[in-house]
Amino acid sequence: MRQPFVAGNWKMNGSRESVEALLNGMKDAMGSISKTEVAVCPPFVYIPQVAQICAGTSIKWGSQDVSSEKAGAYTGETATSMLNDFDCTYAIVGHSERRTLHGESDEMVAKKSAAAQADGIIPIICIGETLEEREKGITEEVVGRQLNAVIDVIGVQALQKAVIAYEPVWAIGTGMTASPEQAQDVHAYIRKLIADKDAATAEKVQILYGGSVKADNAESLFGMPDIDGGLIGGASLKVEDFMAICRAGDNTAV
Ligand code: PEP
Repeated sequence: MRQPFVAGNWKMNGSRESVEALLNGMKDAMGSISKTEVAVCPPFVYIPQVAQICAGTSIKWGSQDVSSEKAGAYTGETATSMLNDFDCTYAIVGHSERRTLHGESDEMVAKKSAAAQADGIIPIICIGETLEEREKGITEEVVGRQLNAVIDVIGVQALQKAVIAYEPVWAIGTGMTASPEQAQDVHAYIRKLIADKDAATAEKVQILYGGSVKADNAESLFGMPDIDGGLIGGASLKVEDFMAICRAGDNTAV
């Protein structure tokens, strides 16, 4: 069966001091987590600090974005080789804030996923519909398009070395969580889309839910058959909240 996975997306939050306090608190609490893989995705500048504090622990780390290019005149970008210099396991790609605020297209997200995998980094590929798209009844069309764009570039079996995060845009940072049933419906659709191309890949790929996951709703979401954990924004910044969500992973592991 699939291992539960909980990843924290710190977004543009933190300081040297808060990173140290948060990770030390997490390290103290990790003894209570035995079945769930736990990762944090800090802002780029804190990756070396995270790597130093988390080395030798079961906490993994990753970036919030990555360049599709290898090196060169790309001001402000960070290459996969640089993430490897600091032992990143994961790179989030296609987060809705990057799609919306930085104009990232489905094709760009696909290229970033391929670049990450080419250097042994596991992309956490974010997909999800806006409120307008949900109200129009085109959720499946939207997430299908976003995912197919990636599959067209990396191939369906490469999803075995990727994580998918279904994050309805209307639920991110809004406090409006998708109900477990709403989330499960879309997760089941995503898994079926993959199964139609390759059943073994569909069985293996972890599909996380993201969007206002909190300590008090995590267990009901993660308990759904096609939800394998969560990508957590706001609640990943507080030790107790984040660790409670990780424990929900353990409690729902099958
Ligand atoms: C996110 O940014 O990926 C996210 C899910 O944020 P939040 O948990 O704050 O809604």
